[in-house]
Amino acid sequence: NPTGSSTSLLVPATLPEKVLLKAQSELYNWRGCGMSVTEMSHRGKEFKSIIEKAESDLRTLLNIPEEYSVLFLQGGATTQFAAVPLNLCTPDDSVDYLVTGSWGDKAVKESQKYCKTNVIWSGKAEKYTKIPAFEGLEQNPDAKYLHICANETIHGVEFKDYPTPKNKTGILVADMSSNFCSKPVDVSKFGVIYAGAQKNVGPSGVTIVIVRKDLIGNAQTTTPIMLDYKIHNENNSLYNTPPCYCIYMCGLVFEYLLELGGLKEVEKMNENKAKLLYDAIDGSNGFYRCPVEKSVRSLMNVPFTLEKSELEGEFVKEAAKENMVQLKGHRSVGGMRASIYNAMPLAGVEKLVLFMKDFQGKAC
Ligand code: PMP
Repeated sequence: NPTGSSTSLLVPATLPEKVLLKAQSELYNWRGCGMSVTEMSHRGKEFKSIIEKAESDLRTLLNIPEEYSVLFLQGGATTQFAAVPLNLCTPDDSVDYLVTGSWGDKAVKESQKYCKTNVIWSGKAEKYTKIPAFEGLEQNPDAKYLHICANETIHGVEFKDYPTPKNKTGILVADMSSNFCSKPVDVSKFGVIYAGAQKNVGPSGVTIVIVRKDLIGNAQTTTPIMLDYKIHNENNSLYNTPPCYCIYMCGLVFEYLLELGGLKEVEKMNENKAKLLYDAIDGSNGFYRCPVEKSVRSLMNVPFTLEKSELEGEFVKEAAKENMVQLKGHRSVGGMRASIYNAMPLAGVEKLVLFMKDFQGKAC
């Protein structure tokens, strides 16, 4: 198990083993400074060097242009569902949302509280298995931004390219929580990218926001100070006590992804893993089935069902015996879901595919 951390395969927030071992070795005394990262003042020179290095490595990884700020915040991506409209529009402004799964739907429900929110397309009627053709989308020319969820974690639907906002501002906003740093992204196409760290780049507790600098500074007057991008930008994410240890862990992951050769290499690894699993599903003569349209299948989250749905409980139970846990699909959709984030090694997916073939053999 060269890269994966856990003896349990397919856990939903795998971290690279190398990163965990490095954190372990530094836990008691960070690089000889006599303190653990958990004990440091967030205003001390040690932590300052940690957060600056994390930001600089993330900028290198994603090739983030100078005109964008990188913020390390708290409250999860869920808090950004509110922070985005609060920072980018007035209560009278309109915004467009393209809803390709339940996270996009949650973002809409939050945005509705702060501005006029239009759902310009929803995949709900088709159980969130598609992304529409962009040309046919009826965008509101007055919208302040167009919002997408780049990868729907529960439904396994991922944008392979991005719609061009046809509004006056041209601002595209993306929730990248579950595919952040899984492949290269042209940041300049977006006004705001936000992501909870806990899928691909660190432990839960830190949310990364990449925001074009000219969009900062116009928050609604009632915006809580903790949600105002301007405050965090002016204070380099140190307005209040940040999640220091999480930021440190993200920094270790960024270093590790750079060592792997950057996001192009990471993408290749993710493509190989996903192909193996989708091929196994598609080649099972209908025993397994992935409901998502082929062209938009996620490289990170692979939902699948069994033709004989009565065997699904047995499948999950047998897989758990082999240390493959968390395969049960989200309670809202049922079936199975394999999360194969960056740190999930190819060997983990190979093991799952072998298990699936074996299970099918026994069941038929
Ligand atoms: N958006 C997406 C795409 C997610 O997968 C999640 C969490 N699974 C969220 C938002 C919510 O993130 P958080 O738990 O960090 O608030």
